[in-house]
Amino acid sequence: MDIATYYDDISQCNKCGFCQVACPIFRSTGHESGVARGRLALLRAIIEGRLEWGADIEEPLFDCLLCGACTANCFPAIPTADLVLKARSEYLEKVGRKSIHRLLFDHLLPYPRRLHWAARAVALGKNSGLSDVAQALGLLRIFGRNLPKANEIVERFPHRAFRDTNKPGVYAGRGRSLRVGYFVGCGVDVITQDAGNATLQLLNKIAKEVHILDNCCCGLPAWSYGDMEAAQRLAEKNLSALASREVDVIVTDCSSCASFLKKYANLFPPGHRLHDNAVFVAGRVRDMVALLFDNQPHTAVRKDPLTVTYHDPCHAARGQGIVREPREILKSLPGINYKELPEADWCCGGAGSYAVAHHELSRKVLDRKMDNLKTTGADILVTSCPACVIQLSFGVRRHGLNTQVRHISQLIS
Ligand code: SF4
Ligand code: SF4
Repeated sequence: MDIATYYDDISQCNKCGFCQVACPIFRSTGHESGVARGRLALLRAIIEGRLEWGADIEEPLFDCLLCGACTANCFPAIPTADLVLKARSEYLEKVGRKSIHRLLFDHLLPYPRRLHWAARAVALGKNSGLSDVAQALGLLRIFGRNLPKANEIVERFPHRAFRDTNKPGVYAGRGRSLRVGYFVGCGVDVITQDAGNATLQLLNKIAKEVHILDNCCCGLPAWSYGDMEAAQRLAEKNLSALASREVDVIVTDCSSCASFLKKYANLFPPGHRLHDNAVFVAGRVRDMVALLFDNQPHTAVRKDPLTVTYHDPCHAARGQGIVREPREILKSLPGINYKELPEADWCCGGAGSYAVAHHELSRKVLDRKMDNLKTTGADILVTSCPACVIQLSFGVRRHGLNTQVRHISQLIS
């Protein structure tokens, strides 16, 4: 359906401007085109024929974080992020996809082995200082137009993928009955492996069987870019890996993956040959935070008390309504002094590949997060999405803070 279908929704904007206060992009730039009111006005202009699809609309369409914060502050609750997403999809139909996205969504993300190989080449270039080697191979192009800046976001790439060390298969755990399928997101697979190792340890304690799944990318990066067909292809590939009746629950330690896997049924509407399968899979997905909330293993008492704070990933708080659970888990841990982070549910600017594609803007959003972090004096900043871990770690390095950034699994295991 093209964006004109949503004209009535878009027209509900009464131009009150209440969305301004909640929008991380507007608060960083002050530009009207970067806030919900401005974006909706542009969409309306397109539908009314006062504006053409083309370069003028690209920035306002693609610099939205899709964080959804505006909707909570909007009296008619206009779902601006969803509308922007639909407009992105139409933009791609009219203007075409970029070659870098074709490479990423069609040739790399559907194939974990190729992703592992690409990550290894990037690691070789980055960790040895031979970034020219990786650049010559054209692989670092994946990480954005602005290579030198993009390159600084990830401090270090592991040489081996998580699933090179922890092969897909079935492993016996120490739990009594639960059979868990572990969906390994791309971030954990090639970058935040410490989080993956901590998750695996916890799953081994909680579950009777741990199935490390042979999944590919969940499809969220393609979907966020507006490439619905690529997202659907990735989801279809995953449905066969996730449809096993031999697991009771599918768990992921990436809140972004969890939120998107739960939406699989929307990608295959009723009547589609994969709809029932998608409903079945989506219904069994659980965020690791939710699993831990219900099955928290015993944690050793720390000698030195630590001050800990928490950042809400957009896909945990707004995508899945997971807000109370991580805080209660952290407050229950022995030796932890929990301190709430101001604006904890504001996007950190990571937003998947946003930190790479919109590096300067993303850094401004991140700086605000770091300023809030400094007020807590936290020893550890905890979150539940690998993209946030990467972005927040970059922020902590950039601001010279001693705070450690950890996935919630790492605090418990
Ligand atoms: S979704 Fe987020 S970034 Fe986009 S307009 Fe709304 S508040 Fe701003
Ligand atoms: S808060 Fe909602 S109605 Fe008000 S200007 Fe923003 S998008 Fe429009």
